[in-house]
Amino acid sequence: MAIIKVQKGTKDILPEEMPIWHFMEDTANKIFTKYGAKEIRTPIFEATELFARGVGDTTDIVNKEMYTFEKSERSLTLRPENTAGVVRSFIENGMHRLSAPVKLWYKGPMFRYERPQAGRQRQFHQVGVEVFGISQPTADSEVILMAVNYLSALGLNDLNVEINSLGCPKCREVFKTKLKEAIKPYLSELCPDCQTRYEKNPLRLLDCKVPECKEIYGKPEIQKVIQSDYICEDCAQHFNELKGYLDNLGIKYSVNKLLVRGLDYYNRTVFEITSNNLGSQNAVCGGGRYDSLVKNLGGEDVPAIGFAMGMERLASLIGQREDVKTTAFVVCNDSLQGIKLTEELRKNGITAEFDLTNKKFVKQLEKASKTAKYALIIGEDELAADKVTIKNLETSEQKTVNRIDVLKELA
Ligand code: ATP
Ligand code: MG
Repeated sequence: MAIIKVQKGTKDILPEEMPIWHFMEDTANKIFTKYGAKEIRTPIFEATELFARGVGDTTDIVNKEMYTFEKSERSLTLRPENTAGVVRSFIENGMHRLSAPVKLWYKGPMFRYERPQAGRQRQFHQVGVEVFGISQPTADSEVILMAVNYLSALGLNDLNVEINSLGCPKCREVFKTKLKEAIKPYLSELCPDCQTRYEKNPLRLLDCKVPECKEIYGKPEIQKVIQSDYICEDCAQHFNELKGYLDNLGIKYSVNKLLVRGLDYYNRTVFEITSNNLGSQNAVCGGGRYDSLVKNLGGEDVPAIGFAMGMERLASLIGQREDVKTTAFVVCNDSLQGIKLTEELRKNGITAEFDLTNKKFVKQLEKASKTAKYALIIGEDELAADKVTIKNLETSEQKTVNRIDVLKELA
């Protein structure tokens, strides 16, 4: 019979990969908790409208990449990202009443119908942070610090932090108009996506990956507009203060005026962290400020900023991590004695196993030396004398102790 295979763009995370995933998850908990963030878990599917309104219906994510299905005449979508879901929950649970800032972090699977390739899956995982209630650039710097320190705690330091300011809806309009004017003569040469972006969301033109479009946007008269300081005084001050904090905190970054990010809801600060060791899908973290999203989704006027990181990309940078060995493997031909000692160890916080098949002593010892740090041997002599031989499987040293002293010895 034909076997059923895992779906294109999805992957099993196998037991041997788990040490990396636990490391990423435990480190997230540890680092984000230090910043006062609390974990939140929102459902994997939400009303389709949440993403259409929250992420924006001119984005690739909403236009092309959503897994949408109908159930009881309701349109539902597997979450392509988690900011919209967290904001929905923030509003629904009245979290604006909590004292600001409200800092939340999450981890979990996201779904996007993309062309699968290295570093790009249809089900992938993100870990992310959202900070609500603070409009000052202190929050921007705090969020960037959380990202950088998390990556550094994972041992990832060969990274580039890129920042940009998209300005506010007011000053951005001026920029959009100028950008459109400069690009207009080349309109017919742009890719079909850019033709639509030109009308619906001209900022996103700069995000295009098509070489012909990139070449056009590289032309001097267009670059002049892109590189100009178009943002208003307030936005410029916000951006300068942020840069000041990062400079003083020793966070290396560069300003990338082409950085506009894929989502519609950003204003002022956007940032991305890329790795030099990932090939073409090199972004590990994307984030930005979204001061109007809470209100747009029906909540109070609450400013916010956050980021999301792709965990598969982090995992491939972290590389191999040693699986932690079981502490004790009980080698014994009397199953009941084996079970009893193993359970006693487990109850006292020691990871322990014993051979469930009652194989020969040598076979049991072989298995022990592959998987454990210590073999606890109960042979016939030991059984008769109520003793256990503890063998250190790394050094081969061994000693025989009274059965009741085993715990003390292992401690
Ligand atoms: P990209 O430019 O790589 O498509 P994006 O702008 O779509 O990224 P975001 O929506 O900002 O990405 O998501 C944040 C992070 O999630 C990315 O930096 C990346 O590490 C990861 N990510 C996004 N899409 C995928 C995917 N399809 N497979 C694996 N990781 C992904
Ligand atoms: Mg994308």
